[in-house]
Parts: sequence; structure tokens; C-alpha cells
Amino acid sequence: MISEVDIQRAIAVRRKVIRWFEHHGKRHPWRDTDNPFHILIAEMLLRRTTATAVGRVYPILIKRFPTPRDLATAHEFEIAQQLETLGLQRVRAAQMKTTALRLVNEHGGEVPSDLDTLQDLPGVGRYIAAAVSNLAFGCAEPMVDGNIVHILNRIFTLSLKGSNDILAWEAARTVGGKKQDIRLYWGMIDLVQTVCLRRQPRCETCPLNGFCDYLSDSLRGSDSHI
Ligand code: SF4
Repeated sequence: MISEVDIQRAIAVRRKVIRWFEHHGKRHPWRDTDNPFHILIAEMLLRRTTATAVGRVYPILIKRFPTPRDLATAHEFEIAQQLETLGLQRVRAAQMKTTALRLVNEHGGEVPSDLDTLQDLPGVGRYIAAAVSNLAFGCAEPMVDGNIVHILNRIFTLSLKGSNDILAWEAARTVGGKKQDIRLYWGMIDLVQTVCLRRQPRCETCPLNGFCDYLSDSLRGSDSHI
């Protein structure tokens, strides 16, 4: 858990990441929309898939199926065709269609804003529910995926086990603060992909190099992380 002492550091980390994201954050089409259905679709596609691969499919998919009703009434085969380059297209297509049908039949064709209701949809876990809640509805829900666990572990010398670790969600809530700002989570994700690399982090260019335990330990010659 992030200690009381580290809360001030968490505030500084938040500020630095947001500022870094403003200048270096990646642009993706799903980051430019507040359409809850499009955000939900993007997040479902992004699971275990790179943003580059999703970037090739997402614009075509939401143009062809812009609403839950369009997706719910489509043939599974046609949806799968659009997802072919991502792999597991039949499984993904079946899940997306079932989710769209649930939205139409149980939620009037809208994406619900409530976190628990979102998580009850097929293929929607806590991360996707939190992402939709943040991006589409402006809620200050912490978001935790493998990237965020990785960077929190490095900065605060935590031993978070993964995105199912309840302590990871608590740590993300502490860093996230009460005021919702999606740039923090996007920034942490982008930092892990471009700077805080798992094998050879580029600490010299990292905006967090004045606040990071991993780097301080390395500089002190500790071999605990090397
Ligand atoms: S200073 Fe280095 S280890 Fe720490 S967050 Fe930045 S890149 Fe990662």
C-alpha cells in the first residue's frame, strides 16, 4: 500500500504524468470520443491486443456498427470478418454481439454508467468498466491494468501482483485522487510502453526520475531490481 509519507509523492507523480502526457501522449481515435458505445468497443478490442492492431480495425468497425442496435442485429460472421486481423475473431464477435444484445434488451440500447451494471456485461471486467466510467461518464474510477501495476511497483516499491490485486486498485485510487483525470491513466500506460520499459527503462528521459524508488535503488547500487 502507498504510505502516508508517499501521498505527497503520489500527488507529484500525478502532476508530472499529466504534464508529460500533454506533450508526449499517444493519439488514438478512441481517445477522441466520449461516445460510451465506441469507448466500450475500443476497450473490448484492446484486451490482449496492441493499440496499433486495434487502430486498424476500430474506425471501420464503429463506422459499420455505430450503435448497439447495429451490432446486435449484425450477423456474427460479418462482425468476425471485421476482426480477422486481431485473431480470435469468432470468440470476439460472439461476445460483442451478446454484449450489444444485452444493451438493446436490458438497457434501452444505451451503455449503462453504473460500474456494477457495466461489469455485469459479457466480456467487461473491472478495467473495462472503469475505463468506460472514466472516459464516457467522467467518473473518478481508478483504472488498473498490467502497465499501471508495473509502473506503480517501480515508483513506490510495491509488490502488486497484477490487475486482480485489490491493493493495486487502492494504490491507483491514491495516485488518481478524487478529481477524475484520464490523462493520468493514459499517461502511465504510454510511459510504460515508451519509457518505463520492462527490460531497460529509459530513466534518464522519464518525467518521474525524481520520484522513483526503482531508480534511486539502482543508483544506490542496490541489485534488488537488476
Ligand atoms: S524513473 Fe525509470 S524506473 Fe522509474 S518510472 Fe521512470 S523509467 Fe520507470
